[in-house]
This record gives sequence, structure tokens and C-alpha cells, in this order.
Amino acid sequence: MSSLPGAPFLHRRAGELWLEGVRVADLAVRHGTPLYVYSRGAMRAALEPYQRALAARKHLICYAMKANSTLAVLQTFAALGCGFDIVSGGELKRVLAVGGDPARVVFSGVGKTAEEMHFALAAGVRCFNVESESELTTLAEVATQMKRRAPVSLRVNPDVDARTHPYISTGLRGNKFGIAHDRALAVYQRAAQLPGIEVAGIDFHIGSQITDGAPYLEAVDRLLDLVEAVERAGVTLSHIDLGGGLGITYTDETPPPADVLIGAMLERIDARGHGAREILIEPGRSLVGNAGVLLTRVQVLKRGGERNFCIVDAAMNDLVRPAMYNAWMGITPCALRDAEPETWDVVGPICESGDWLGRQRSLTVVEGDLLAITSAGAYAMAMASNYNSRPRAAEVMIDGDAAHLIRRRETMESLYAGETLID
Ligand SMILES: *Cc1c(COP(=O)(O)O)cnc(C)c1O
Repeated sequence: MSSLPGAPFLHRRAGELWLEGVRVADLAVRHGTPLYVYSRGAMRAALEPYQRALAARKHLICYAMKANSTLAVLQTFAALGCGFDIVSGGELKRVLAVGGDPARVVFSGVGKTAEEMHFALAAGVRCFNVESESELTTLAEVATQMKRRAPVSLRVNPDVDARTHPYISTGLRGNKFGIAHDRALAVYQRAAQLPGIEVAGIDFHIGSQITDGAPYLEAVDRLLDLVEAVERAGVTLSHIDLGGGLGITYTDETPPPADVLIGAMLERIDARGHGAREILIEPGRSLVGNAGVLLTRVQVLKRGGERNFCIVDAAMNDLVRPAMYNAWMGITPCALRDAEPETWDVVGPICESGDWLGRQRSLTVVEGDLLAITSAGAYAMAMASNYNSRPRAAEVMIDGDAAHLIRRRETMESLYAGETLID
């Protein structure tokens, strides 16, 4: 029974589910459900191979915080020396709120506003990952007005197929992301001439939940071709940013371990004589995904017809990945029962047929039982909504034997606090 995603931090003792030194059922009683529970130890352990693979050279690991931007999660990674990859001014506010160092922040995203650029430049972010020529022009104007120079890396779209879900594939020519590979040299030449711009580096990010190392190596090769062309044209690039996107095991996926993947990319970089350059990397999901579970209680069992429905108190507003990406999430009882399993569609109470969490799952459950949805540390709470006027769940961070409530459950009053009636 050690096949739980997130093991060894997630494990069973006498049939009951524990995360680190805490029995998760106790948390559900104390804080109610649905409840997100994270393991700080699992986050540290997920970061360690990245740190180890990069230890021998100048580097910066920027946690891609859109995967899980809860303050205590950011605090955890800041304390471990990470910077952050942000995609909005709001995310920068969160970094500043936990005392994170803006000089370790890279700012990605295809639609940065002039206000966000101003805020980030004033805060002193490490680099803007620029995704279009228009953005470069606006950034130069903002910086010039502020009498500053904005450090810039161009996010190059290498046109490689990351072989993942189309919604989370970002490095193909037809995606909205990045500057086309064949335009990049000209854009660098222009950037080098622009007042207000200081060329700092180059980056790519080809997608998310990537389980195969080959597209990364292809992208590295394409990127190095460009680095060489850009530098022949007299523009210096001090860092190479390898993006994020490494997948995790939800069920039977076998992504390469982070240190193996990075080792292979560094080997390419060194072989082509670029070993002295600073390396940046932007992992998100792979640092937090398997550090979290979503606890939910079975409300209603509805047998018969074509299917059996196990209706739980978590829903697509808490965890949208199944509805949005057709994603498979592990679902396991918090206490094992000794009876024959039945086949269930595990669904939420929301008025949408898309409100499902798992289909055709073999489970032994009775009403009132507690289930854990595994691998729920990434793109789960961060994507939660209030659809159906459902307050967002509470979150708990476990550290050894200690359990810290890191976000209170929302109240209904807070949901409509910003609304007004018409006189
Ligand atoms: C989302 C994103 C990441 C992180 O992706 P993961 O799949 O969570 O590792 C990194 N960089 C950029 C630019 C992103 O948009």
C-alpha cells in the first residue's frame, strides 16, 4: 500500500490515511470539509532534486506560484531560497506580503498591463519575460517614463510539441505564448536599441504536466541556436531560463525525476559551450502537486440506473481539473473498509454534469465517509471559485506532527461583501 501519490509523506497506518505525522481524518473533524491539506515536508522534498542538480552553478529556482499561491506556501519556498515566477501584479503583491525578495522574481505572462509593469519595475523584479513585440514597446515606454531600465528576457516559442493536454501545451507555433523562434533575433536586436530596456536573458516554457524529457531537450537545442545567433549579432544574454512544466504522477505517469531532466539539459548546455551562464528554472506543479490532498465527505450515495453516483461535498468549484482538462485525480478513502468495492462516479453537488471528480472508481464507501483526493496541491485551490455561492475551502499545512490552519474557510458574508443593492 505504498503506491499513494505523494508517498512517503502520504501513507497508511492501520488502514487510516496520514500525511506526515497527522491523521487526516482528525483535521476534517476539526476544520470541516472540503479541506485542503498540504505537507511541508513533501514540498521541501520536491524542491531538493532541483537544488541538487543546480548546486554547482549560478542559478535561481523561481517557484511558478500560480500552481498554489497561498501565502504559507510562498513563505515555505521563500525560506528555502526560491524566487518566484509570477504572471500578474496580484501575484507580486503576494510575494511582497510574505517578505519575498522581488530581485528573485521573474514576471511572465502574455497580457501584462502598463500598471503591472510599473508596479513590478518599481518593486525591482529580476526580469520581465517578454512575450510579444507590443509588450516590449509598452515596457520600454513605462521604464523610460520612470527613468529606469527594465531587465528583459524574451520568451521564445520554440515550436516543439510537449505532448500534453492541448490546454496546457504552450510551446507550439499555434499557441498564444512567446515570440516566434524566427522573429526572436530581430526582436533582440530591437530590444538592445530601445531606451528603457536592458537585455538580460532568454527563456522558454513549453507546457505543463510534461512527462517526457525529449521535448525539453529539443527546446534547449532550439534555444541555444538562438543564443548563438543573438550573441553573434552583438547582444549579450547572461541567463538561460528553462521554464517549468515537469509533470507529476497522478496515476501511472512516469515523468523523469527533476534532477535527471535538469542533468540532461545542462549536459546539452555544457556540450555547446554555454556552461558558464546562469540558469533559471520555473517549476510549479512538480513542487506542490503531490504535496496536497483535498478531503471531502460523502453526502449521498445514489445507486442504480446506468451508474452509481457518490455525491461528495467537494465540487468543481473546489477542484476544476477533471471538468477543465478531463484530468484523472486519485480518490481514496481516509479509512479502509472491509467490504466488496462498487463502481462509483464521484461527483459534486453543483448543477452541472461537468461537476465530477472521478469516474468509474472502485471504492468501498458509505454515506458520511471521508475521501481524500490525491495530488491536489497544484492547480486546485489556486483555481477555486465561488460558483453556486460556495465559500472556498480552508487550507491546512502540516509540518511534522504540527498542523497549521493557513487559510480560514470563506464565510458567505465575505462572498457578497463587495456587492450592493440598487436604491
Ligand atoms: C505555468 C507556468 C510555469 C509552471 O508550470 P508547471 O507546469 O506548473 O511547472 C512556468 N513558467 C511559466 C511561464 C508558466 O506560465
